[in-house]
Amino acid sequence: MQNILVINAGSSSIKYQLIDAERATRLASGLVERIGERQVGEVAAGRVKHEAAGRTLEWRTNIADHTEGFAQLTRAFAESGTPLGSLGIIAVGHRVVQGGSDFLEPTLINDAVAQRILELAELAPLHNPGHYDAIVAARAAFESVPHVAVFDTSFHQTMPPAAYSYAIDPEVAEKHGIRRYGFHGISHQVVSQRAAAVIGRPVHQLKQIVLHIGNGASASAIHRGRSIDTSMGLTPLEGLMMGTRSGDIDPGVLLHLLRAGYDADGVDKLLNKHSGLFGMAGSNDMRDVRQAAEVGDAAAQLAIDVYVHRLRHYVGAYLLELGGADTIVFTAGVGENNPGLRARVCEGLSWFGIELDPERNAAQSDTARVISSDGSRVAILVVPTDEEVEIAKQTRALVTA
Ligand code: ADP
Repeated sequence: MQNILVINAGSSSIKYQLIDAERATRLASGLVERIGERQVGEVAAGRVKHEAAGRTLEWRTNIADHTEGFAQLTRAFAESGTPLGSLGIIAVGHRVVQGGSDFLEPTLINDAVAQRILELAELAPLHNPGHYDAIVAARAAFESVPHVAVFDTSFHQTMPPAAYSYAIDPEVAEKHGIRRYGFHGISHQVVSQRAAAVIGRPVHQLKQIVLHIGNGASASAIHRGRSIDTSMGLTPLEGLMMGTRSGDIDPGVLLHLLRAGYDADGVDKLLNKHSGLFGMAGSNDMRDVRQAAEVGDAAAQLAIDVYVHRLRHYVGAYLLELGGADTIVFTAGVGENNPGLRARVCEGLSWFGIELDPERNAAQSDTARVISSDGSRVAILVVPTDEEVEIAKQTRALVTA
């Protein structure tokens, strides 16, 4: 058995999956959430949900911190009849959102690496502190196995300076670590590799555009297997319109709002939590917005129009940067499940050699597949992303090397 426990932790939650990295299969998954919340009324604040072998266990209890969170995770495996000690876990893989310019690949965690991840909280205040707390607690809870950090930023570290630099005073940029880092790198990497496998060509021969469109969304331009541009920047706020994030916006809007009485936290909340589909149409779930648009809701229709406009904007930009494309790949919740949106993104692009096949596009499937017509010069694909399995594979590769 070569099982990997994959941890995706935030400041108040621990998502986990147990993955057989050799077979790329999921054995168990779960969520410990509302860590650190105080109980109000009769019911405990924290929640635990564990799924394995088709069975779901759930309970509520107060969970003070990540250490108690990992105690609940351990309890969940024990109560489902498969205590962690019996599962042949060879390593723990931690997803880390921000690795700055420091981490170019998956990295074995020691005290210095953990400390650096905490320091990078300056660039990712919403993510890295939670990762750090979880890493400290997990290393104490599972001290006999190696822990590995897999970063969302690493894959985009190959971007050239022209793509990653903001046009600001370089001293200011240097002092504050301000540059474009990009995120969703684990997904862009694995999805581009799978797309290459589906069309039977080596990834190092291909020019690829990947559209990762879920609740968070980003596009990337991948040249011969290396990221040369991506739509997210210093933070995951830049680029495409998302479930609750605005994506690209004139920075002058921030100044305008600050002068109009908003403070930094207010602007942060507006742009990260109350914008995007949610801000424009009242729900961050594309299914709701689509339904509303279909029955004539003008706000929902405009939200989808903006959403599509942004996607096409990046497809156009990346076609130029790459000098054409061999593949355009759709992935994540919206990209995998919304044929209508895919059709709108690809509409009227036959001049560029981009032609969807309507029947292939409409067919429901969970597998990686081509949805372009036989005559399309660019292969258009849907490739399901699986970041956790990829984290497990990369973790295993590092600890068994
Ligand atoms: P996250 O970024 O949280 O991982 P996901 O990749 O799960 O997000 O994507 C969530 C989005 O995918 C939601 O907007 C949801 O509407 C959309 N989505 C998920 N499943 C479907 C489906 N079966 N049909 C249409 N849209 C879907």
